[in-house]
Amino acid sequence: MPSKKIVIAIDGYSSCGKSTIAKALAAKLSYGYVDTGAMYRAVTLFFLQKNIFHSEKGLKHLDHEFLEEIMDHISIFFHYNPAVGFGEIYLNGKNVENEIRQMMVSDYVSAVSAIKEVRIKMVDLQQKMGLQRGIVMDGRDIGTTVFPDAELKLFMQADPEVRAVRRFDEMQSKGIAVTLDEVRNNIQSRDYEDTHRKESPLTQASDAIVLDNTFLTPAEQLEQAYALAISIIQPEEKKTQNGSDGSEKKTADLSAKN
Ligand code: C5P
Repeated sequence: MPSKKIVIAIDGYSSCGKSTIAKALAAKLSYGYVDTGAMYRAVTLFFLQKNIFHSEKGLKHLDHEFLEEIMDHISIFFHYNPAVGFGEIYLNGKNVENEIRQMMVSDYVSAVSAIKEVRIKMVDLQQKMGLQRGIVMDGRDIGTTVFPDAELKLFMQADPEVRAVRRFDEMQSKGIAVTLDEVRNNIQSRDYEDTHRKESPLTQASDAIVLDNTFLTPAEQLEQAYALAISIIQPEEKKTQNGSDGSEKKTADLSAKN
């Protein structure tokens, strides 16, 4: 197994398959995996439990001191569950992996994620989780804000309708009652909010490699991402295997930006 440990940052719009590729890549490299979206969802769940919203989906006016105090009452950690093969998220000691996927949380999460005090605490936690490197982290601002020095940055894309259908199928398989229209609208509004917020909006890092998986199977996208990771982790071996500069060519082939 490769010995040099790197950070792999995977960013992109909602439901682009980021967590699918991130989990598989982490497993293949024996790296840790961090789903940062789950962290913002857990904070949102806490806000919902404490009734910190207006009924019409807006946030109440929250001042800085109040927000700082609220964030001090939130503890978030991941605990590896061998049965599922990844770390499940715990909010104040309780496993909330399923609860945070509910539509109610999806409806509010982008508003909560736009709050400066929330982002400061989450980014700090995420940077600590990646201190030892050897980690795959997916989210919206990993390559731009959390780990601007990540050795490999992927920016995931997929056709919007394909994304909606994939997310709808996934939620149905988990028994979550939802319509395709609700999923489509939620994805559209989250994309808008995530790209237009003041605090670290979703943007493609200038050194990120675009990976469009509209027509790729999970196995195919994993193969591409793994090849990129190995070309960084073991550049010399890769060159030897190819007998030339094969790793550089592979990266260039995959790096066509919009
Ligand atoms: O990845 P997922 O779709 O579960 O993320 C839920 C929400 O969390 C996103 O729509 C976004 O508002 C927020 N998020 C964020 N920054 C991250 C990860 C997620 O703002 N790094």
